[in-house]
Amino acid sequence: RGFHTNHTAHCQHTSPAHATTRRTIFSGIQPTGELHLGNYLGAVRQWVQLQEGGDDVLFCVVDLHSITLPQDPTTLYSQTLGMTASLLACGIDPSRAVVFQQSRVPEHTQLAWVLGCLTTMARLGHLPQYKEKSAMQKEIPLGLYVYPVLQAADILLYHATHVPVGEDQLQHIQLAADLARIFNNKFGKTFRAPRSLVLGQDAARLRSLRQPTKKMSKSEPDPRSRVALSDPPDVVREKFKKAVTDFTSEVYYDSQERPGVSNLMVIDRAVTGRNFEEIQAASQGLTTAQYKLVLADAVVEHLAPIRQHYNHLLQEPGHLDQILERGAQQARERAANTWSVVRHKVGLLGK
Ligand code: ATP
Repeated sequence: RGFHTNHTAHCQHTSPAHATTRRTIFSGIQPTGELHLGNYLGAVRQWVQLQEGGDDVLFCVVDLHSITLPQDPTTLYSQTLGMTASLLACGIDPSRAVVFQQSRVPEHTQLAWVLGCLTTMARLGHLPQYKEKSAMQKEIPLGLYVYPVLQAADILLYHATHVPVGEDQLQHIQLAADLARIFNNKFGKTFRAPRSLVLGQDAARLRSLRQPTKKMSKSEPDPRSRVALSDPPDVVREKFKKAVTDFTSEVYYDSQERPGVSNLMVIDRAVTGRNFEEIQAASQGLTTAQYKLVLADAVVEHLAPIRQHYNHLLQEPGHLDQILERGAQQARERAANTWSVVRHKVGLLGK
C-alpha cells in the first residue's frame, strides 16, 4: 500500500488531485485445465483474502492467453466455465470482485497491439518463461512470443496497481511497468506502473506428484502429477499413494535432497496449518507410505466443501455464463474508458 497517483481506478478522463490508497488488483488464470491444489494453495486461496480487504479486485479467466498453445475448440469454453466454477467454489465472490472472461472484452487485444508497438523483439525474447515454453515447441507461435504484451494490456487496461504473481511472473510485471512508463513518456501521463504482489509465506509452491523437481501444472499431460479440486476422494488417495518420493522411509523436510517428501510436507502445512517440526513430530513412527495416506485424508477433508460447491455450480452452465457476461459488462465499461484515452493520446483519433 501507500503508492500515490493522480488517477482514480475508474476514470482516466479527469485527473483528480487527491491521492488514493485503494489498490486495484488484477489476477488472471488460464482455462488450460482444471484448477489444481497448487493453483488453490499457491494463488486462489490468497485471492479470496484479497477480495475481503476493501480493494478494487478483478479476476480474469484469460482464455486468449490459453490459445497461445493449442487448445481443443470443443472443450475450451467448457474449461472456461469450469475455471469460473472453481474460482467461485473456492470463495471468489462476483459481488465483491469483477469476475470475467478476457475474450469478452476486445480492448485487451486492442491495447496489446499498441503496447506491442512500444517494445522490442529482443526484450520479449529474453523473458525466461518464453525461453522455457518455446524450447518445447518445434514451431513457435507468435502468440507465445507476445503473450507478456497481452498480459501487460490486461493489467494496464484497468490501471491495476498490484498483480499477485509467483516468482516466475515477476519479469512480466516488470515489462508491464516499463511499458506504462514508455507509454507515459511518449504520449503523456496515462498509466501507473503496476507492482508485483508477492504472496506471503502461506502461499505454497507445489511440485508435481510424479516429478517433484517440476512444478505442479494444469497443462502437464499426466493427470497423476496433480490433484484437481474436482477429484473424488478415492482418486485423491490414489494420487497421494503413488506420489513419487525416495527410499528413505522417515518423514522430514529437505527440499534439495528430498523434493518428493518435502512437497508432501508443504501441502500438509498449507492444509493443516502445522509447521514442518510439528508435522515431523506427529509423523514419528510412520513410514512415508503411511504418511501419504494420513495426508491424503487431510486433503480430502479440506477439499470436500469446495468440491461439493464446484459440482453444484457445474450443473448450471447458463448461470456461469451469466456471471461471466455480467462481469464482462463491468470490465468493458472500464476498458472502454482507457481505450478511448489511448486512442486520443496515440493520435488514432483527433482531439
Ligand atoms: P499452466 O500449466 O497452463 O501454465 P498453471 O497450473 O501453471 O497452468 P497458471 O494458470 O499459469 O497455472 O497460474 C494460475 C495461478 O496459479 C498463478 O498465480 C500461479 O502462480 C499459480 N500456480 C500455478 N502453479 C502453481 C504451483 N505449482 N504451486 C503454486 N502456485 C501455482
